[in-house]
Amino acid sequence: MSPSVYLFSELDAVEQAVTDWGEVRGLLGGKGANLADMTRLGIPVPPGFTVTTEACNAYLAAGNELPPDVWPAIERCLAAIEVETGQGFGSADAPLLLSCRSGARFSMPGMMDTVLNIGLNAEITEALAARTSPSFAYDLYRRLLHMFGAVVLGVPDEAFEEAIAAARSDAGVSSDRQLSPNAWIALVETYHAIVREHAGRDVPEDPREQLREAVEAVFRSWNGRRAIDYRNAAGIDHGLGTAVNVQTMVFGNLGDESATGVCMSRSSTTGEPGLEGDYLEQAQGEDVVAGTRHTDSIEVLADRMPPIHTELSEIAQRLETHHRNMQDIEFTVERGKLWILQTRDGKRTAEAEVRIAVDMVEEGLIDRETALLRVSPKQVEVFLHPRLDPSAEAGAELATGIAVAPGAAVGQAVFDADRAEEMAKDGQAVVLVRPDTKPDDVHGMLAARGIVTSRGGRTSHAALVARQFGRPAVVGASDLEIDPAGGTMTVGDQTIAEGDWLSIDGSTGRIWAGRLDTVTPDLENPWLMKLLSWADETRRLGVRANADYPHDAERARHNGAEGIGLCRTEHMFFETDRLPLVQAMIMAADEVEREAALAQLLPLQRADFEGLFRAMDGLPVIIRLIDPPLHEFLPDHDELVGELADLKVHIQHHRSLAEIDETLAQIRIKQRFLDREEMLHEENPMLGTRGVRLGMILPGLVRMQVCAIFEAACTCVAEGVDVRPEVMIPLVSHVAELRSVQATVTEEARRVMDERGIDVDYLFGTMIEIPRAALTAAEIAGIAEFFSFGTNDLTQTTFGISRDDAEQGFLVQYLRDGILSTNPFETIDPEGVGELMAIATERGRSTRPDLEVGICGEHGGDPASIALCERLGLDYVSCSPFRIPVARLAAAQAVLRL
Ligand code: ADP
Ligand code: MG
Ligand code: MG
Repeated sequence: MSPSVYLFSELDAVEQAVTDWGEVRGLLGGKGANLADMTRLGIPVPPGFTVTTEACNAYLAAGNELPPDVWPAIERCLAAIEVETGQGFGSADAPLLLSCRSGARFSMPGMMDTVLNIGLNAEITEALAARTSPSFAYDLYRRLLHMFGAVVLGVPDEAFEEAIAAARSDAGVSSDRQLSPNAWIALVETYHAIVREHAGRDVPEDPREQLREAVEAVFRSWNGRRAIDYRNAAGIDHGLGTAVNVQTMVFGNLGDESATGVCMSRSSTTGEPGLEGDYLEQAQGEDVVAGTRHTDSIEVLADRMPPIHTELSEIAQRLETHHRNMQDIEFTVERGKLWILQTRDGKRTAEAEVRIAVDMVEEGLIDRETALLRVSPKQVEVFLHPRLDPSAEAGAELATGIAVAPGAAVGQAVFDADRAEEMAKDGQAVVLVRPDTKPDDVHGMLAARGIVTSRGGRTSHAALVARQFGRPAVVGASDLEIDPAGGTMTVGDQTIAEGDWLSIDGSTGRIWAGRLDTVTPDLENPWLMKLLSWADETRRLGVRANADYPHDAERARHNGAEGIGLCRTEHMFFETDRLPLVQAMIMAADEVEREAALAQLLPLQRADFEGLFRAMDGLPVIIRLIDPPLHEFLPDHDELVGELADLKVHIQHHRSLAEIDETLAQIRIKQRFLDREEMLHEENPMLGTRGVRLGMILPGLVRMQVCAIFEAACTCVAEGVDVRPEVMIPLVSHVAELRSVQATVTEEARRVMDERGIDVDYLFGTMIEIPRAALTAAEIAGIAEFFSFGTNDLTQTTFGISRDDAEQGFLVQYLRDGILSTNPFETIDPEGVGELMAIATERGRSTRPDLEVGICGEHGGDPASIALCERLGLDYVSCSPFRIPVARLAAAQAVLRL
């Protein structure tokens, strides 16, 4: 059996017992591993030892029973430290004082416990007071009583905090340091009484007993509520256990040139080089983070203790170089001597992550691959969401919760889902505030700009739905007291009622009262640009954009798109100046009327295509012919019925003939719409007359679109634009359908090109979005020169579900109950839909080896789906213009991880 306790100076022995650094961390915890590592590097670390996570797990497994070998091993290490420090544990003349610190494999900041100043008792404190100063000695002792009381004996912190506040106010002073020796002595008595009252026992006088109980309590804190919740939220295994680090105390509160602080080796906000941090003179342990005293920034340290600042900077540099990552460092200065108490990879914003990764490559600390893998696509996404402008804080910060869905939301507070929907329908921006959410609230969540809850974590219903639907959200903001029935929430002494403005940042979890300004994402960020340029050199997959309008295409190109993977021509039909023409085309009584309407649409479509071709000069542009069922272009059926009924009532009240005529005319128009709609009505329009089927019924529509494409192409070619159109047919299930449309397309394209005397190279291809098409891909590729997976429809047709219905209903429950682990509309289902894609690609290329295969639709911007496309050997992914940067990085990572 391997030892259960190691001195910090015994790292070599630990490394012999395990295979790699990951296992060292697993055994000693991150904090312990790094303390030992720093000791070996010769960095000044107070001597100490680590009780392993294995000992912790054995302790917990035995029903909180210390394994027999642990205490003797601790005694061995204690003896070694006594020799090294020349102090004695329990000695009154030269007392060795210890801290007992938790530290798991993965950092869980503040989630478990630490006890400082172990080894003091009444007698030792008195002797120490005589040798140093009473305020120093009693301050240490009361901290021990407080921490031991709270951590080991479960006494509530407030009891101690109230007592010290009372002592300050009795003495008429504002800071603890102004308390007189007598006040300290009295306070220690009060603390003893508090412990006795709450725990029914005393803090042990015997230092060894203190240490043993503290070690066990730290072990037990692994299973504390906070720790469990944090692990659930962060996805950390509950079986890892925590190590315990026992370390010689150093004192940042011991007279002149003493201080304690925390610093980052670079800015954790922007990534800028240079130390960043806070410190406090005359302080110990958590005073800095507790926020009770005003801290000074690290620059002040440079003034006050220049040599310490220099040494700290050098150590920070060394640690960074050693870990090849930005470090978060705890330090203490005791009478002019610097001690390092902890180092770990620092938490940072997305902006800092990107800048640090790029800077470190340029400094030669890491290679490009490491940089590309270090930044997550989610972090790139943060650059693209609108963000709150922190420099223009117009409101008071209310609370912080768990940031679960990035982005900023500014809106009026609403405490009820129905109400949120109502207000949103009136055009108001709302933020839905709930203690928690349930499936019944989904409509309100969709209507809201952002979501706040006071309960729940990363896996709560609210978080799930928010992420799924891209609503910025902050959950588990437990400082908010939300009264949904009363329609208010309170935080401290502030009350927010319905209609009051809130601003939330789903990337940081911060919540403000009031309306904060938002800033548009900074795509010009030079570090992001550099990182993405490396991604471009690494990736194999092409990245195209789904863009329907010239301005989208320009934006996409600016973001790095290498073409248009999907232009949905019907979107152009919904524009207000065009819809009447489209409707006239649908309502046409005969071919002549229909051709007339199409003739009017033609120049409009042509202009759109010209814009796209110019924006994508030299790059491919895939234009998909009309896809949705025609009734989508007509007025809403139920509304029409209602309006007709109203008009029929009104007409009875009309007096003048002119009025009656006017209303009759309206009735006639609406009645015609209704009749046509009833004619077009289908039970399942999603599976009805749409896509290629429409083109078969209305070849005139196909001809008009193809004519517009090629007239636009010829015009652009004449201007010197390099035009690369690809004509795409949607919803094909049988090769015969494609063959039939192909005839129309080829004929019309030929006609236009001949008329203009210009030849345009183009590709003819199809979407693969029906399982039958995927399975018969070999035949289809006989005609199609390219495939594009429409994975939204392919997911619907493979699962046999309608997305809109599913996401409003059972899918949410499926995800919550774990029937499905991810939403197949967000990440391609690899076993089903992915398998069809694999089959289609393989069979298609067996017929046509140079078949171009890509994916369009939202999945094209999802990193996990992009990785699948890489594995399947697709040529490109296509996604919305603003997700292009995410896709560029994800495509590079897919190559690096393959
Ligand atoms: P956490 O993981 O919550 O940061 P730590 O174990 O790091 O907990 O300890 C809490 C605080 O006590 C930190 O500020 C740390 O620097 C301080 N501390 C821990 N051990 C010592 C020590 N031996 N001497 C001085 N300060 C210490
Ligand atoms: Mg710490
Ligand atoms: Mg489709």
